[in-house]
Amino acid sequence: MKEIPLLYREKKECCGCTACYAICPKNAIKMVEDEEGFEYPKIDENNCIRCYKCLKVCPFKQLNI
Ligand code: SF4
Ligand code: SF4
Repeated sequence: MKEIPLLYREKKECCGCTACYAICPKNAIKMVEDEEGFEYPKIDENNCIRCYKCLKVCPFKQLNI
């Protein structure tokens, strides 16, 4: 089984745009509010089919891949 995608290592690598959340075909991503009220995506490992659409759509990942 392939790895669960790593959407961000640090919060500064995610702007909370929800593009990954919107594109996930399995609804495996939830936006979870942190202690400051900003929402970050969290992947449900059990629903994720490792299609990596979330990584492809992420504007931050486009900079690195
Ligand atoms: S890899 Fe695919 S199924 Fe898994 S969270 Fe990303 S978009 Fe959803
Ligand atoms: S697409 Fe990238 S920047 Fe946007 S919420 Fe998802 S991980 Fe964060």
